[in-house]
Amino acid sequence: MSARAMMETARNSAQALREAGLPARLVELHELVHRLRDRQEEVVERIMADTGKTRTDALVSEVLGTLDCLHWLVSKGPRYLEDEKASTPLALLGKKSRIWYEPLGVVLVITPWNYPFHISLTGVATALLAGNSVILKPSEHTPLKGLLEELLDGLPLLASSVQVAYGEGDLAEALIDAGPDKIVFTGSAPTGKKILRQAAEQFIPVELELGGKDAMIVFEDVDLKRTVAGALWGAMTNSGQSCTSVERLYVHRSIHDDFVARLRQEMDRLVLGSGDDGNADLGAMTTSFQYDIVQRHLDDAREKGATLHGGQGHESERMITPALVTGVTSEMALMKEETFGPVVPVVPFDDEEEVIRQANSLPFGLSASVWSRDLRRAERVARALGVGAVSINNVMLTEGNPALPFGGVGESGYGRTKGVEGLRAMCRSKAVLIDKQSGTIEANWYPYTREKYRLFTDLIRGLFSGGLSAWVRFARAGLKLESHSQKPRDGQ
Ligand code: NAD
Repeated sequence: MSARAMMETARNSAQALREAGLPARLVELHELVHRLRDRQEEVVERIMADTGKTRTDALVSEVLGTLDCLHWLVSKGPRYLEDEKASTPLALLGKKSRIWYEPLGVVLVITPWNYPFHISLTGVATALLAGNSVILKPSEHTPLKGLLEELLDGLPLLASSVQVAYGEGDLAEALIDAGPDKIVFTGSAPTGKKILRQAAEQFIPVELELGGKDAMIVFEDVDLKRTVAGALWGAMTNSGQSCTSVERLYVHRSIHDDFVARLRQEMDRLVLGSGDDGNADLGAMTTSFQYDIVQRHLDDAREKGATLHGGQGHESERMITPALVTGVTSEMALMKEETFGPVVPVVPFDDEEEVIRQANSLPFGLSASVWSRDLRRAERVARALGVGAVSINNVMLTEGNPALPFGGVGESGYGRTKGVEGLRAMCRSKAVLIDKQSGTIEANWYPYTREKYRLFTDLIRGLFSGGLSAWVRFARAGLKLESHSQKPRDGQ
């Protein structure tokens, strides 16, 4: 089917979905949660086959993460879609104010290859709950062909409201040309820029979830065992192919050498394997181009004088042994570009100000983590970081809570997915003001007269001065204005 035909189908189903109402959508979304729970092992197999992830990465980050998000959506989401009362100012006494959250229409969800199930399904379900029909354009490298359709099969409302567009970037471009009401994009910064340019031509709003170069900051007072284990997992999970993985590890100089020695020891214990039965820690690189990028970063660091531990490549299996890099400088690609692989560069620091400056020195700002027993210091540093999310004494954990908004700053994108903000991003808020039918003319309507001008001046003073006398002044001016509003212009 052509992109235009898909858009037309989506427009028709959007209308039906909207008319069906939230309760009907919820029934089917609940059923989707149950299906995913019951078919988790089959889904894990499909994810492993497309990505080369370990079984545990596929189960925990993809299936459990998705179930968590879907569960939040069906249990907490509906209250944020209800009509809301808003306050009405004194000057508009007697009127009612409301906010209605309405569907946008058709949402185009474009997703990457690193968490092809979690990111796709969460985006699709959020859009559906809010009442939109969806076209999903998954990554051509990890299409999970037919899986979403199978999960939705027999759920008439959702199945008819979701279409999966299998293809490459040019298909996504054609779909944007066909004019969706919103684009939710997760992927690289260069593609994000292209999408923004194209969307601008049609004023299509875009949520942009792009790459990162996340910092982990470790102060001298941490528990070394826990923090080393956190650094290891944060850098290596999903073989480092996570937008929020630890890509720069800053460790206080007083514990740096001990920390590095322990990290190295723990790293050497990691088990590599893909197609495993649950006992491998690191899987394959999902694509050969990402394998090449990681090798390029390691070669560049080596050439510029860094010390490498690990990092051996096995090209035919797209496997890279975990790498720890010391002696790095800001000139190395490893310290300024997204590596997206099982590599952790470690940098010593001496004080808080210096490490904040270093962490904030790149155009990216997705997430970060700060580790210290001194929670006041950790919070102070967390507030100073130019990122969209910070975990304190944990790593990548903001993503683990679907109630929290997710998104970056700077070249990591803008807009938020997940949480209330993510759900409302799939809605169009409509402001509503309700007044009674009566013969009254509003004071600010025509005719404008000198007397009304004087009374408005009085009303403003009364309204914004505070105190009892001001309140009386406001009430008097208000009453007079009301009676004057019925009168014709002076001299008529
Ligand atoms: P990518 O930008 O190459 O591709 C992402 C998607 O965009 C794919 O579906 C692709 O087909 C599509 N696409 C390609 N060209 C397009 C075009 N011209 N117009 C519209 N769509 C087009 O990214 P990737 O390599 O698949 O994913 C890795 C990147 O995603 C990394 O930078 C990673 O950090 C980022 N990422 C970000 C988040 C986040 O939430 N911030 C999460 C996961 C991944």
